[in-house]
Amino acid sequence: MPERCVACVRRRLTAALAGSTIYHMTSTARRSPRLPLFPKDTTVNSAGHLEIGGCDAFDLAREYGTPLYVFDEGTLRQQCREFVERFSARYPDTMVCYASKAFLNRAMAQLVKDAGLGLDVVSIGEFAIARSVDFPSERVYFHGNNKLQDELAQALDWGVGRVVVDNMYELQLLDSLARERSMVQQILLRVTPNVDPHTHEFTTTGVLDSKFGFPIATGQAAEAVKEAMRLQGVNLLGLHFHLGSPIKETAPYEAAIRIVLEWARDMKRANDFDMVELNVGGGFPVAYTVEDNLPSIAVYADAIIGTMSNLLMKMSLLPPRLTVEPGRAIVARAGVALYTVGALKEVTGVRRFVCVDGGMSDNIRPPLYGAKYEALVANKANEADVHTVTIAGKLCESGDILVKDIQLPRVATGDVLALPVCGAYCVPMASNYNAIPRPAIVFVDRGRSRVVRRRETNEDLYGLDNL
Ligand SMILES: *Cc1c(COP(=O)(O)O)cnc(C)c1O
Repeated sequence: MPERCVACVRRRLTAALAGSTIYHMTSTARRSPRLPLFPKDTTVNSAGHLEIGGCDAFDLAREYGTPLYVFDEGTLRQQCREFVERFSARYPDTMVCYASKAFLNRAMAQLVKDAGLGLDVVSIGEFAIARSVDFPSERVYFHGNNKLQDELAQALDWGVGRVVVDNMYELQLLDSLARERSMVQQILLRVTPNVDPHTHEFTTTGVLDSKFGFPIATGQAAEAVKEAMRLQGVNLLGLHFHLGSPIKETAPYEAAIRIVLEWARDMKRANDFDMVELNVGGGFPVAYTVEDNLPSIAVYADAIIGTMSNLLMKMSLLPPRLTVEPGRAIVARAGVALYTVGALKEVTGVRRFVCVDGGMSDNIRPPLYGAKYEALVANKANEADVHTVTIAGKLCESGDILVKDIQLPRVATGDVLALPVCGAYCVPMASNYNAIPRPAIVFVDRGRSRVVRRRETNEDLYGLDNL
């Protein structure tokens, strides 16, 4: 390495005296604009390595292997606090429920429990994970468009806080299960206000043509209110809607709140229905790339609470408890996926592939939704970008591309790539396609790391089989 840079010579001498190694910083070294996508306080250390939660990402990859999902606990806690504070500062009677399908395991359930949030579950399996850390059942909300009889029975026996009823079959079934147990279950009705949140078709849920909820427009939601009020095994507390995800503007929430509140007023007049709770769902967006410029949580809180308060006053309805259900926005930025680079392939004149040891088996979002990601070379975090590459997974599908056309420093076999904003909907959608063991999950916190879920082994792959 040429010793032309005076600063480097000086640092090298200082380092030699201190007995440590200092790496040459090229004149093009700069703070990457991608760094703010990573968990809070992510830095580049003196070795030029990415440092997450006080831990060197390259060392984490070496110690725990790759693909590795690293979550910064400080960022997870900060996001929980952020939602609670932003909403309750404007509307004290707010309940924040973490939508656990975005990312759940025992450590995460424990963290959400300690943060005092509620928990949305969409299966009895998610409820069971929460129960394994003694998550308070009364703070669990049970969602889903086809809750099974066994699931509903189990949820009742476990003392679930709310069942968010999706359809008439479920309403009748829940009522009879509750009456068998001499219980009265607290419920919300999920309604579809027919508002398009302008997001991917697969994650649009609040329009008329949706498998979720009772449509308001067809009169079916009104029928459900009447029926729920008649039944003895359930107590109708209020209404729920979830428009989809991610919702990159506040207007869909405002439109939906207006539709649902005006309709709730009609239901009050027609059926004497009192809405004690209003649950406006999740869908709060996060920035995945440096181009994403999104409103803050405070802006959503202002829009939701502002619209609601205005309308309540005009209609002289009593203020209900407000519930919000962020999933992605709690966990996405806290998670970083680490991969090791293997094969490098240049299709001459066409494309330069950088192949990594994971892919759609741990992150199916790019092929499923066309999701875009950024990346940094964890062990070259200060180096300048010199070429355009495509980051390919190792699964046997041509669609298994993690990032298409990204500028990176010169990448070599053995380098570690870090993909930010991988905390939501990656690990939970992971599969064993190609018999790839699912990755390990590590939590980092102020310089310490611990495995919260071990990597699957080959025995895990065939251990459930019989000959
Ligand atoms: C998935 C889901 C959420 C969370 O969505 P995010 O986009 O992750 O915030 C909230 N509520 C319901 C009912 C959901 O199904």
